[in-house]
Amino acid sequence: MPAKNFSIRQNQILLYNKLPAGATGAGQENKTGGIYMREDICTIPISEVFEPKEGCPICRMRDTLENRVTEYITGAAMMEPDIREVTNVQGFCYPHFSMMLKKGSRLSNALILESHLKEIETSVLRLDKRGVPGKKEVEAAKKLTESCFVCEQIQWAMVRMFDTIYRLWGKEEEFRELFSQQPYLCLPHYTALLEGAQKGVGKKNYGAFAQAASDLVKNYLDGLQKDVTHFCSMFDYRNIGGDFGNSKDSIERSIQFLTSRIPEGQ
Ligand SMILES: [Zn+2]
Ligand SMILES: [Zn+2]
Repeated sequence: MPAKNFSIRQNQILLYNKLPAGATGAGQENKTGGIYMREDICTIPISEVFEPKEGCPICRMRDTLENRVTEYITGAAMMEPDIREVTNVQGFCYPHFSMMLKKGSRLSNALILESHLKEIETSVLRLDKRGVPGKKEVEAAKKLTESCFVCEQIQWAMVRMFDTIYRLWGKEEEFRELFSQQPYLCLPHYTALLEGAQKGVGKKNYGAFAQAASDLVKNYLDGLQKDVTHFCSMFDYRNIGGDFGNSKDSIERSIQFLTSRIPEGQ
């Protein structure tokens, strides 16, 4: 069915507030705890998330944002000392470091690391009167190893995206249809969506929303279970030479469904 003049096309998920007039630039903290970033990094039209109907739409939104932020961090942000100040303190997790290495030049990664490592020297390895790192420094070390600039941006953006989804679902029949046409929701994103749904879509709509979301999960889970069982059965000697059908990648698809990530090397 060709897309009609979708009202949802006009709905951009505003991931970051625009810089207010007169603000000096990116990297400042905005009122709601996000960091001001350029507008082209900050907005994803909801149609781009839901219209492809491939895989979990929330994973798609996460991937888009992750791509843009890691590209930005190793590119344009090199010229933004304010952003660097934040990344020096927050650091990055393993998956996002890996993406940055793939996206950015070795020099830009080295420059990010240079000032980040320096920050560790001053905040984590400071010595107290006894000449050893104190409690505060251990806490700083823990915070640093557990935080990631990209994860934080995504988390912040996800809350706003979910608000948009709840709002559209409540008032647009067309969006409800589009939502139900998604191939599936992965388990982590289904959980996150339902967690906020009572408040997001309201008590009156909650039942119908939860039903629509859980239908997407249930249908996909049914298929996955059949495929995994079929895969296992293919190792029975009685099935030698049989047809694997759709079951060949059922392990990878199950892991993706359970964790929202495609296993490494696939
Ligand atoms: Zn997902
Ligand atoms: Zn991360």
